[in-house]
Amino acid sequence: MSAVLVLIEHDGGPVRKAGLELLTLARRIGDPVAVVIGPEAAAAAPLLAEHGAGRVFAVDATEVLDHLIAPAAETLAQLVAVTSPVAVLLPSSSSGKEVAGRLAVLIESGVITDAVDVELQPDEGSQIGSVIATKSAFAGAFATRCTVTHGIPIVCVKPNAVAPQEAPVESVVEAFIPEISAAARAARITGREPREASGRPDLAEASTVVSGGRGTNGNFAQVEALADALGAAVGASRAAVDAGWYPHANQVGQTGKTVSPQLYVAAGISGAIQHRAGMQTSKTVVAINKDSEAPIFEMADFGVVGDLSAVLPAAIEEIRKRRP
Ligand code: FAD
Repeated sequence: MSAVLVLIEHDGGPVRKAGLELLTLARRIGDPVAVVIGPEAAAAAPLLAEHGAGRVFAVDATEVLDHLIAPAAETLAQLVAVTSPVAVLLPSSSSGKEVAGRLAVLIESGVITDAVDVELQPDEGSQIGSVIATKSAFAGAFATRCTVTHGIPIVCVKPNAVAPQEAPVESVVEAFIPEISAAARAARITGREPREASGRPDLAEASTVVSGGRGTNGNFAQVEALADALGAAVGASRAAVDAGWYPHANQVGQTGKTVSPQLYVAAGISGAIQHRAGMQTSKTVVAINKDSEAPIFEMADFGVVGDLSAVLPAAIEEIRKRRP
């Protein structure tokens, strides 16, 4: 089988679930080759091997880590030349998409973003076949299948597209030192400050998200309490963020984060198209709204018509009762 190059975003801590999901998907179309870019990159290799990466390129050269996106794209371009992959998979995070765009320019290829699945479709007269990506459109109403018609497909995959599955292999770990151009080193990172830990999962990767909107009237305490009862991340609509009730980093939607959890709870959110753009691929949507005509109910799997101040505490109490 052909190689599938997989970018693993790494911050030196434990390997994130999104990277293991990418390896799981990569195995559907070829042999995963992981490219770990981050401090102590080689330390990630054992877990990646457990998830099917038979070859791991560890990249922790300062020329890459001390600069912004461009060196990562150049690194991947050089590894594309080394491995001749059938596709390159990246996370559909903002940095993953930016690396993908720059990589596409470097290797003269096309990019598909926000994919939720990949498969190999046999082509007549070709031994390899075409990589087909699935993505959803129009608030999840359509699943589209798309392919890159020129060059090696570069596919950015949304978090939670699949559950990570183990497939242990013997792995070869290689330290890779890329040649980075002066242009890619133009912008340098001068300092890093770790974000204050909230103790909750990362919003973009969480498998459960509880979001609050204008209907909270600025009180996110019950939204946070429900999130904690469910082990969820907290999101917010733009109306809530613009009012200063919650940080912009938690905004879900067209101009905020894109989330794709197993469960999305929208509390006091009307369901404007720009909000839906950021959560439409959630597997199950629960809406709580006092207006039975609110558009969010059109896409919700379960709806509760009621006042948040009564519904949220009742839900929290019930969940706590049922938790061991
Ligand atoms: P509202 O639309 O005001 O809805 C509040 C809801 O709460 C109502 O349905 C109401 O019935 C309900 N409610 C009120 N009180 C209670 C209560 N006590 N109990 C239960 N329910 C109650 N929006 C985003 O969210 N994310 C984006 O990224 C985004 N990007 C945008 C980009 C552009 C270019 C534009 C033009 C807009 C964007 N918006 C975005 C804004 C979007 O159009 C909506 O204005 C916004 O999503 C509304 O937020 P909301 O649902 O919290 O507020």
